[in-house]
Amino acid sequence: MTDDLRDWRSTVDLAATESLAHICLFSENLVWGDWIESPDSELERRFARRVPVCPQCGRQRKALRPRPHVRREVRARNRQPPALTPDVIGGRVAVELLYRGFSPRSTNEVAGPALLATLDKRSIHNNLAQEWLDHFLHAGWIEARWLVGRGGNRLEAVILRDTNALLSWWLTGLEYQFLRVSISAGLGRGADGEIK
Ligand SMILES: [Zn+2]
Repeated sequence: MTDDLRDWRSTVDLAATESLAHICLFSENLVWGDWIESPDSELERRFARRVPVCPQCGRQRKALRPRPHVRREVRARNRQPPALTPDVIGGRVAVELLYRGFSPRSTNEVAGPALLATLDKRSIHNNLAQEWLDHFLHAGWIEARWLVGRGGNRLEAVILRDTNALLSWWLTGLEYQFLRVSISAGLGRGADGEIK
């Protein structure tokens, strides 16, 4: 038996149904588990496995051992908008998300690697960017999906859930900065620009 034939045989299985027997032709699907609470935070998460499923009858091919997780998704259990006003870094992360979220060709998914690479070019390193993404995650404005596996975790996508809330938060940052500048200019406040 050639390797090709052996491969083909391994992906074909007989399904005996009462009315009609057919040959299951499996194709790999991501199959998500239920959302579960994270014990250590206000987030909940779910995991996906890659499972061969027959599109005709929905049957999953049996596995000898549990299939490994290949994706993890995280979302807020209770929305908690950030207590912080946007600083320069938080503002830039928000703008990048909004720019992608409002572009005409956009879906609600932003590719993680491209987002992190763009922010990195603007001197916002990945761990700093992820800190802000974490704030937005807790706010329920975004959800996030990671690739999981032997290579570790990598951000695959950010899923935009409430771009309007993100936009108004970003705008409060602009107003705050405008206020700081006007007050310190108008009243001759200290060079630190603090609103007293
Ligand atoms: Zn089938």
